[in-house]
Amino acid sequence: MKALFSLSPRALASWCEEHGGRAFHGGIVRREALSRGLERFEEMTSLPRRLRAALAAEFSLSSGDEVDRRVAPDGTTKLLLAFEEPTRVTVECVFIPSTRPGRGATLCVSTQAGCPVGCPFCASGLEGLERNLASHEIVEQFRRGAQLGPISRAVVMGIGEPLLNLEALTTALETVREGIELGARKVTVSSVGFPGRLRRAARSKPRFQLAISLHSPDQDQRDRLVPALAGVPIEEVLAAGDDWFTQTGREVTYEYVLLGGENDSLGHAERLAERLRGRRATINLIPYNPTPSIPFERPRPERVQAFVEVLTAAGQVATVRRPRGLEQAAACGQLRLSRSGGDREG
Ligand code: SF4
Repeated sequence: MKALFSLSPRALASWCEEHGGRAFHGGIVRREALSRGLERFEEMTSLPRRLRAALAAEFSLSSGDEVDRRVAPDGTTKLLLAFEEPTRVTVECVFIPSTRPGRGATLCVSTQAGCPVGCPFCASGLEGLERNLASHEIVEQFRRGAQLGPISRAVVMGIGEPLLNLEALTTALETVREGIELGARKVTVSSVGFPGRLRRAARSKPRFQLAISLHSPDQDQRDRLVPALAGVPIEEVLAAGDDWFTQTGREVTYEYVLLGGENDSLGHAERLAERLRGRRATINLIPYNPTPSIPFERPRPERVQAFVEVLTAAGQVATVRRPRGLEQAAACGQLRLSRSGGDREG
């Protein structure tokens, strides 16, 4: 049976019209499935009975299975989902409750099974790319996440490099925009910043915020930390980020994984500030999540603080991401590896 959300919103509207319904019924289906978490078309009583029957005869609402779930004491919930077609893959999504009362959660989603970028500090890149996810497999992560509670923000920072699967991601975001009311400012897509792809994406004015993972101000070190972009000058990546700002009017966030003893010196902070001087941007520092068998360390808290102070003194806006769900192996890719038979997770 075909996955319902393999249809774009436009295609679903046409399908509804062709089957005795109206175009707007597609929006109702999205809201009922994604916001209300209904599992069966029969329960969507605001749709005409005949349309419900036609949908049920042709489509399935779900397109994957939950094969593992880990819940951390702070409520952060990591789901491992399996998708079967065209090949079986597993991917993760993470539901991160807000620490502020009354606010919805943030959902972190994946766009690829495995990742071809190969960052040496990341569990997801250890085994390379298996395949791109289809748009409905991306939507399925939202559907499962929304069943855990209201979602008010999404970050596309799970497994994979979103710019290498942008078409499927764009279609999925169109679906969830209406389904769970996630507008452009509530979705952040994180990329290592392939300059050509970034410029092409900016021209189409996609409806999301952009974060570029920089990880080092030094060319040789970035080449090692982001192997797929080895040899691409950092200035080209930053120029593509500038172009994004010009085209979309939305500021770029630069992400920087702080690796203890590797890229967390005060000299790194000074050179990072120099690289970004004159740019309207935020730097998001991410203290590294230790991962068994990956030879990088968490930076010392005083080093993180000193790093922030250097950036702030240089006029940069810097934030530090608070780790969530570490207790349940919430670092990107860990759960998937732990279930794939490897002994990496101990
Ligand atoms: S950090 Fe991101 S881009 Fe790098 S290997 Fe992991 S998933 Fe891929």
